[in-house]
Amino acid sequence: MRCPFCAHPDTQVKDSRPAEDGQAIRRRRLCPGCGARFTTFERVQLRDLHVVKSDGKREAFDRAKLTKSVDLATQKRAIDRDRLDQMISGIVRRLESGGEPDVPSKTIGGLVMDGLRHLDTVSYVRYASVYRDFKEVEDFSEFIKEHGLSGAEDEDGDDAGS
Ligand SMILES: [Zn+2]
Repeated sequence: MRCPFCAHPDTQVKDSRPAEDGQAIRRRRLCPGCGARFTTFERVQLRDLHVVKSDGKREAFDRAKLTKSVDLATQKRAIDRDRLDQMISGIVRRLESGGEPDVPSKTIGGLVMDGLRHLDTVSYVRYASVYRDFKEVEDFSEFIKEHGLSGAEDEDGDDAGS
C-alpha cells in the first residue's frame, strides 16, 4: 500500500492482528521512505453501496465518511474505539446485506442514531442535532424533551422562590 504521507509506493506491515471481535484485521504499517506509521483495516465487503442524498445526488458509500461523522459526535466521550468500530461495521453489514444497493442517507443516519442511542446519550444527541439539521434552538430543545433527554430540571416556569 502506498504511503499516505510521502506517496512511497510500498510500506511494510509491522504488526497484524484481529480487531472488532474478529470482523476485521488491523495492520500497523511503516513507511521506509519517510518513517511514518499508520494503520490499515481489512474488512469484508459484501457488495458496492451507494448513498442517495436528500437532494437526489448519488455517491459511492464511504465507510471513512461514516466513521468521521460518528467520530465528530463522539468526540471527547469515553467510548471504546473498538465498540464504535463494531457499531459502524454492524451498520455497514446491515446495509450491504439489505435489499437495495442504493441507500438513502437518512436510512444510514437512522441506523447511526440507533447505534449511538445504545452507546452514549450525549453522542446520540450531538449526532441527531447535526443529522436532523436543526435550524432553530427551539427545534433542538423540543427534540430533547420529546426524547426525554434533558437531564436538568426546567429553569423557567418553576415557582420555587415565592
Ligand atoms: Zn512515507
